Amino acid sequence: MIARRDTGDKKEYTFSEIKSAVPWLLKEIQSFLYKKAEKLLEKKLVKVKNIKEAEVQIKDGNLVYAQWCGAAGCEEQFKEKTGAKSLNSPLKQPKVSGQCFNCSSKAKSRFYFGKSY
Ligand SMILES: [Zn+2]
Repeated sequence: MIARRDTGDKKEYTFSEIKSAVPWLLKEIQSFLYKKAEKLLEKKLVKVKNIKEAEVQIKDGNLVYAQWCGAAGCEEQFKEKTGAKSLNSPLKQPKVSGQCFNCSSKAKSRFYFGKSY
């Protein structure tokens, strides 16, 4: 008997089936968990233009995606206001133009911000 803790599914396998079933099941579980995490992230990720929007979203427990200047002082100020910090930046950076969402300096990249628990 193999029980999946991610879906709760249970299934009986013969001894000879186990050898091929287990690697396949592990792949299935990984894919299931990845998709679940991806969906959750999509739901929780909100693009913001300014500090007011960011404050609301962080308070609601979301992650924010914003144009940022990248300055340590700017992040420190943001952290004091919201309790959130920079997490990472997307690998594929879209073209950035305009101002930092927090301090209005020139934005250099897009970044994710959120509270880490
Ligand atoms: Zn800034």
